[in-house]
Amino acid sequence: MTRREPEEVVLTPRSQGAGASTPATAVRTVEFLCIGCPLGCHLEVDAVGEEIVDVRGYSCKVGERFARQEFSDPRRALATTVAIQGGRWPRLPVRSREPIPKALLREASAYLHTLSVATPVAMGDVIAEDLLGTGIDVVATRSMQRSEP
Ligand code: SF4
Repeated sequence: MTRREPEEVVLTPRSQGAGASTPATAVRTVEFLCIGCPLGCHLEVDAVGEEIVDVRGYSCKVGERFARQEFSDPRRALATTVAIQGGRWPRLPVRSREPIPKALLREASAYLHTLSVATPVAMGDVIAEDLLGTGIDVVATRSMQRSEP
């Protein structure tokens, strides 16, 4: 099953007609699709500049938190693999300990694909410290022993 990416739609400022310029005090509404559960609630964030003034459409606190985070600092968990030498398999699954800024996902994946680690590795071992200066480590999500020759 593939995880849906939330859609972001910036709506016309509520106080203005379509095509009108947006003064600094105008309320703009940004829409997101919540990915917190399969219900997929349609979230709306009203903001003046970067300040959130209202959040609507959520059915639980998870959705409200997601809408605020998605508006101000969208983040995603990163799960991928790195090369591993001397193990049973050629790739080791890894993930970021916490979600990283969405804008860094592509760069972070590219960086991790340049890494190569050696067996043995235990689940939870740090594979990359302070990923791209985010302060977030990348850890192994499985153990891998050295394979017998
Ligand atoms: S707001 Fe709550 S109920 Fe609605 S999709 Fe998000 S997590 Fe699910």
